[in-house]
Amino acid sequence: MFAEVVVNVASLTGTFHYAIPEGLQARLRAGHLVTVPFSGRRAQGVVVGLSDTSPVRETKDLEGLVDPEPVLTPAQLDLAYWIAHTYLASLIDCLTLMLPPGLSKKADSLFTLIEPNAESANPGQQSVLRLLKGRGPLRGRQLERALPKTNWRPAVEALVRKGLVTRQSMLEPPTVHPKHIRTARLSATLTQVEQAKPSLSRSPAKAARLAAVLDFLANEFEPVEVSWVYAESGANLQDLKDLAELGLIELGEAEAVRDSLAGQEFVPIEPPTLTADQQRIWDVIRQRMERMGPHPDPPPSREKMRDGGRNSLPMSGMGVFLLHGVTGSGKTEIYLRALDETLKQGRRAIVLVPEIALTPQTVRRFATRFPGRVAVWHSQLSDGERYDTWRRARAGKVEVVIGPRSALFAPLPNLGLIVLDEEHDEAYKQDPPFIVPYHARETAIEYARRLGAACLLGSATPDVVTYYRARNRDYHLLELPRRIMGHTQALREQAERYHVEPHYHPLADGPADAQMIDLPPVELVDLRQELRAGNTSIFSRRLQAALEEVLKRHEQAILFLNRRGTATYVFCRDCGEALKCANCEMPMTYHGPEKQLQCHHCNTHRAQPTQCPNCRSKRIKYFGAGTEKVEEAVKANFPQANTLRWDADTARLRGAHDLILSQFSSHQADLLIGTQMIAKGLDLPLVTLVAVISADVGLGLPDYRAAERTFQILTQVAGRAGRGLLGGRVIVQTYMPEHHILQAAAHHDYAEFYARELRQRKELGYPPFRRMMRLVYRHPNSERAEAEAGVVAQQLRLRLKQEKPPATDLVGPTPCFFGKVAGEHRWQIIVRSPDPAALVRGMMLKGWYVDVDPMSTL
Ligand code: ADP
Ligand code: ZN
Ligand code: ZN
Repeated sequence: MFAEVVVNVASLTGTFHYAIPEGLQARLRAGHLVTVPFSGRRAQGVVVGLSDTSPVRETKDLEGLVDPEPVLTPAQLDLAYWIAHTYLASLIDCLTLMLPPGLSKKADSLFTLIEPNAESANPGQQSVLRLLKGRGPLRGRQLERALPKTNWRPAVEALVRKGLVTRQSMLEPPTVHPKHIRTARLSATLTQVEQAKPSLSRSPAKAARLAAVLDFLANEFEPVEVSWVYAESGANLQDLKDLAELGLIELGEAEAVRDSLAGQEFVPIEPPTLTADQQRIWDVIRQRMERMGPHPDPPPSREKMRDGGRNSLPMSGMGVFLLHGVTGSGKTEIYLRALDETLKQGRRAIVLVPEIALTPQTVRRFATRFPGRVAVWHSQLSDGERYDTWRRARAGKVEVVIGPRSALFAPLPNLGLIVLDEEHDEAYKQDPPFIVPYHARETAIEYARRLGAACLLGSATPDVVTYYRARNRDYHLLELPRRIMGHTQALREQAERYHVEPHYHPLADGPADAQMIDLPPVELVDLRQELRAGNTSIFSRRLQAALEEVLKRHEQAILFLNRRGTATYVFCRDCGEALKCANCEMPMTYHGPEKQLQCHHCNTHRAQPTQCPNCRSKRIKYFGAGTEKVEEAVKANFPQANTLRWDADTARLRGAHDLILSQFSSHQADLLIGTQMIAKGLDLPLVTLVAVISADVGLGLPDYRAAERTFQILTQVAGRAGRGLLGGRVIVQTYMPEHHILQAAAHHDYAEFYARELRQRKELGYPPFRRMMRLVYRHPNSERAEAEAGVVAQQLRLRLKQEKPPATDLVGPTPCFFGKVAGEHRWQIIVRSPDPAALVRGMMLKGWYVDVDPMSTL
């Protein structure tokens, strides 16, 4: 018997065959994490298949198992092949993605200094020697970290050849283990305890502590965690050991499960009766789900796996549903029903949210409805917590996993449902330099298809690509009417807490538990007129008045800033015209050092104009304000107002999101000033005004998704108003109030936005009509970066000419919009094609980021 193994050694592709030793033959399965000998070292690897024959004559023996159980399900192995194929990643990286951190280890070498004084060493070698002398033996990974961007590897190899340094191959042991806690219990009879008490210790203080331990344990039947004993008695570990020595107590061990939901109490609540609209949608999903499940995990087929399996699978998306409805229209209630149905079928579910720290209320709702059956998965869990959750999931002890995109890889057997809330969110796509730039939504849909599971996507502003597919019947399109809902009892409790009368009203024909409120009115304020009227403040007169109202009535307001790309976008303050490239119609951006405008599409440069080409106004520069500036302005205009700032700076610390939100929702501040994060998540009952300080910033960015992103963010932000108890209004400040994106957002009109956006995408051949791929090269030297980009672009053009793939074209090379990041110049090439990855598959693109389906081209 032979095992086909993917070996975890950097930049290694392909699989290797190993003979399976006697003792392992009966146990070894695909998905096992194993150790194997590999070119003189020990390495970890994942078994991807078993066979009776090996393609090579000479095989080494597989060494052993890292974990007694397989670490990947057959379905996960299958999916890893697909991800590797689709996103041009190495298979081992895709497999590693699915393992808890700390369990999988790359092989490494340990370098030890023997002779520090070497005259013949060159500067590179000298720096390695100095490092080893100063810090003692180091692993390759540590050298990499200490000497970034240097060619330390050949240097250290040369030192090894010269005999100045030794190399020892090594494999770190896994850093995560099941956690064991120490317990104590009484092992003597109560009489024996009483007899022993007078002579416990010569120190009266210690004797008192020991007696307290015995008294406490005398009332417990089960072994007690020692930390409890310490807390109750003031004793320490030595005290317990002494008592054990006396034969009065017994110390033991129990396995602790690190669960991040532990310690929070959840009150189960009954599911509400659905409204007629919800019921109509739920009927469609339920009927479909009843026909789908339950069915066992399909066995992976080798052939399917090799080509990523895409073409050999039926493309029918009959298990994929898109729920389109504004925030608060009752989508989550549908997810909960679908979850209930899945659990009733004995299957399991994964719920993905864009960012778990911003959605504590959603997590709580799931955990409340299914107490004890839900586990949370996120990056702020310790490695140990993550490992435990992973093991519980693998053992089938968790039925629902909720978390950000990585939760998709929780090893749940018999998966029946994947939910993606806010499916349009960019957080679902991981951009390079992340090692596997996969799209969690696309991956979830593929996974669900392979498993015969249902996939539920929900959004108020679906991704144009998703909506297009749903309209084309690849997915079920389920629309909820455009209104906001509230639960009668929740509203009543909130109203009592805040001493206000809710503006919600009952439904004419609906269940008693559900109430409604209309969408908030959105007002576009023309900032050009403000300037004409001599108002140069960042608050228009409308906004100034509205804020005064809010403060007078002791309500709350949110001031939102769209921060992305702030200072580089240039336009006319009088006519609102963005300065555009004559070739591409894309807005040009301003580069300070050269005082030049640049098109990031075709690389045209032009001098900074002194007047607007459109209206000849001289006021053509505009730099957006940051959150601090807005806060200053608020303090100057409204000295009596309490403000809170929520942006990347203030939310950096762990738990900061929660803190800021709870401070705001408990009315410790009147105004919340913030960026993107504000748009997500929470209910804020007293907010009656949401203001967008400047809506235009995002619109001017030279990116194919700029319009979509701006529409989504404005709609989401506007959705924060009007969901409170008192309803609300939205004020959007802009230099271009007639812009169709702003008009569509102001009218809550997704259909209008979609129709226009789709027309434009079709004209330009952007997704959903063709897929995109972005190739980015970075180098500290700008000429080198440009030259390398040119060479690869030429290679690609040659390939295009030879292979003639249908409907494929190539833009670039051009400098990226963010042209210099972390001291490196960035150049890019964009490929538009039905299958862009095919163009570069098999090419050696060293130093390049390759991003299939990029979320932005900035
Ligand atoms: P979404 O997921 O679209 O944002 P939710 O499902 O969170 O919407 O619903 C908004 C509010 O309305 C929540 O507070 C929820 O408890 C309540 N709600 C949803 N459906 C019902 C219903 N059928 N009856 C009563 N309250 C409901
Ligand atoms: Zn102008
Ligand atoms: Zn151009």
